[in-house]
Amino acid sequence: MLSRRPQATIDLAALEHNFARVKQLAPQSKVLAVLKANAYGHGMLSVAQVLKAADALGVARIDEALALRAGGITKPIVLLEGFFHADELQQVVASNLQLVIHHREQAEALLAAVLDAPVRVWLKIDTGMHRLGIYPHEFEELYQRLSQSPNVQGPLRLISHFASSDELDKPATARQLALFDQITQNSAGEHSLANSAAVLNWPQSHGDWVRPGLMLYGVSPMADSVGSDHGLKPVMTLSSSVIAVRQVSAGDAVGYGGSWIAAHNSRLAVVAMGYGDGYPRGAGNNADVLIHGKRLPIVGRVSMDMITVDVGNEPVAVGDKVILWGNDLPVEHLARRVDTIPYELLCNITSRVQFSYVN
Ligand SMILES: *Cc1c(COP(=O)(O)O)cnc(C)c1O
Repeated sequence: MLSRRPQATIDLAALEHNFARVKQLAPQSKVLAVLKANAYGHGMLSVAQVLKAADALGVARIDEALALRAGGITKPIVLLEGFFHADELQQVVASNLQLVIHHREQAEALLAAVLDAPVRVWLKIDTGMHRLGIYPHEFEELYQRLSQSPNVQGPLRLISHFASSDELDKPATARQLALFDQITQNSAGEHSLANSAAVLNWPQSHGDWVRPGLMLYGVSPMADSVGSDHGLKPVMTLSSSVIAVRQVSAGDAVGYGGSWIAAHNSRLAVVAMGYGDGYPRGAGNNADVLIHGKRLPIVGRVSMDMITVDVGNEPVAVGDKVILWGNDLPVEHLARRVDTIPYELLCNITSRVQFSYVN
């Protein structure tokens, strides 16, 4: 029997489909699949096990990489922010991890280290994001010194990150791309710039390696579209169950603060899903769920463990399944409603939610 707890059902066939879609969009490029933050909330190890065709995996922090290694993943793993402290370098070598080097101190620490074996380095240049990346004027010097270091397994790979590749009408991406080409034109090494939005929008940026994250999970990085507009399939379905159904009379105020008042006699379904599960509190009086395929509104505030849904005369009963997002209820739409991005909603799912992997 299915538990009535909140469930995240992860469709592994959809994940494979989305990976194939990346290959179709960027047929000349290798794929560094981005699995940071527990694979955007989907379960890092399970995702890594399915993405056998990925050329490398990307994570943000060394503990994520070590968890993949501990789980038996032998594929190349890139630390997208490199090491945070020189103490980590022995572990980087021992676990055969690859490093993004994005600022001078990091480069100096790597150059000064005494290592058992050289590491693969992706040298990151700031071309306009102004977050991580060496300054353009540092490139020549650091490229030469790293290339010649016995600690570096050559040739260097050259990377940058886009600030606005999800916005087609801004000149920023073309400018970043032109600057990257200019800085790197006389230096050997594979190029990598494209996140999901650039895989979708900027084919001229695909280069040797693309770095998709969100699109692998079937979700659009653009504010005005959903995954299916781009041939993607949502990987996660977030669902739960009705745990009570009650009558309300016209004038009854529902939930904390009585923020919703029934305009007429109706029926409410109480659903086991709340902000303690990662469901956004901003969805109160502001979003729909699916029950028996029908969109029904959340009324009143989202509590820690529950939401209330106005089901009117629909034949909804205790135990019925409720979809919070998934195939016919895109997480992108909910994100817009609650003034955030789907990345945040996916990452926010908490450990109270039970995960199952299908297909
Ligand atoms: C997270 C990340 C990505 C993936 O971005 P998406 O928008 O999810 O495709 C790519 N590159 C770097 C460096 C990242 O940190």
